[in-house]
Amino acid sequence: MVIIIKTKYKFLLSILSVLLVAEVIILIFFIKNIHIQQQHLNAINKNQETLKVQLEQTLDEQQFPKKNVPQQNLKQIRAQVKEDQTNLATVKTFSNDLKKEKKQAQSKQAMNQKLYDEVSGKQKTQDLLGSWYQEDPLKNHQFQEDGTLKKIPSTTEIKELEATVTTLPNDSFKAKTLLVLRQIKQQRILVDTLQKEMKPFIQKKQIVKYPDKEKLASLNEMSRNIKEPETQQHYLQALVLLKKPKPKEENNKKMVALTFDDGPNASSTLDIVSILKKHKVTATFFMLGLMVDQNKEVVETIHKEGFTIANHSYSHKDLTKISAANRQSEINVTNEKIKAITGETPIYLRPPYGAFNKAVTDTTPMTISLWNVDSLDWKSKNPKAIEKEVRQQVKEKSVILMHDIYPTTAQSLDNVITYLKKEGYSFYSIEELLPYL
Ligand code: ZN
Repeated sequence: MVIIIKTKYKFLLSILSVLLVAEVIILIFFIKNIHIQQQHLNAINKNQETLKVQLEQTLDEQQFPKKNVPQQNLKQIRAQVKEDQTNLATVKTFSNDLKKEKKQAQSKQAMNQKLYDEVSGKQKTQDLLGSWYQEDPLKNHQFQEDGTLKKIPSTTEIKELEATVTTLPNDSFKAKTLLVLRQIKQQRILVDTLQKEMKPFIQKKQIVKYPDKEKLASLNEMSRNIKEPETQQHYLQALVLLKKPKPKEENNKKMVALTFDDGPNASSTLDIVSILKKHKVTATFFMLGLMVDQNKEVVETIHKEGFTIANHSYSHKDLTKISAANRQSEINVTNEKIKAITGETPIYLRPPYGAFNKAVTDTTPMTISLWNVDSLDWKSKNPKAIEKEVRQQVKEKSVILMHDIYPTTAQSLDNVITYLKKEGYSFYSIEELLPYL
């Protein structure tokens, strides 16, 4: 009996000692583990501090992405944020202190994630806009309202940008982007509507039906509002075809277009306008931006009387012999000046001296419009000589070059028109006659 008890006691003792050893081992393991977890969290905290600074450095003081932040940098940051996320998931909490620290690390990670999403969202927005606009519309933090488009993005592409913008924080970057987005959406709608509205009239450059005057004016207005030059030119050219006289007039081969260059001015131009009105004939005025500036009321009168206004450069420079920037401004500034008065951008360009090359046609989508009868009014400055020149040269589909800045031209006009009418000529504006040339 004693032996049995002794053995049992010994047995219990040995179990107890085994348990004690196990407890010590567990305790050591536990302490070691806490230490590891703590180290892990510390590493995350340290990593996040650097990350936060890095991310904050990619935005400027107005919260716009900085131009010089390389894409690679953003990729690295993305990897770091992801790594921290994984590390966080593996941290096990053994004490209240650890729990608290893990919570803090979690919120820091979430903050960095948010910051990363913000920066990458903004970067993506700028990339998309950069690929659509000729010039970054958010340049210098300014929304350029009349920004020219390189392409009009598809509805899907616009939706992609819209989705990105929704994730952005409400700051000035988002506000400006929303303005750009509105313009882009308007452009998309404009082009889609125009395409639909043109369809009943013109298909594959063939006229199906002629629109009435009102419709034509509305199609014209819509085309002029397109901010992508190639698309705009496509529609303006289609409209030129639609403006053609209807077939019964088409048989009349005795067509003539009177064109007046280098004006307007406040004396002879107005004399010419009243002679044209007296004879009820139309004409086209190729204006210099410089003269437009000085004679705004004359431009207004010409526009109100329904004559076509076209572009003859700003200061009559040979467009083939000046810098690209000057060429562009000679053409564009004149268009802007005319538009400011008439509300319409001219479609036709007559380069000074009739001089143009690929550089000129690459500068503008405008249609070049020259002449085939030179009245030499600039040379003779003699009403009789001008009349004689026209009589000798005029033929079917003549575009007659004259200059409204000379009183002698105005003095010759009554006789010139009377002669042409007597010979059976009808008068057309340049857009009406050009399709026949
Ligand atoms: Zn000229």
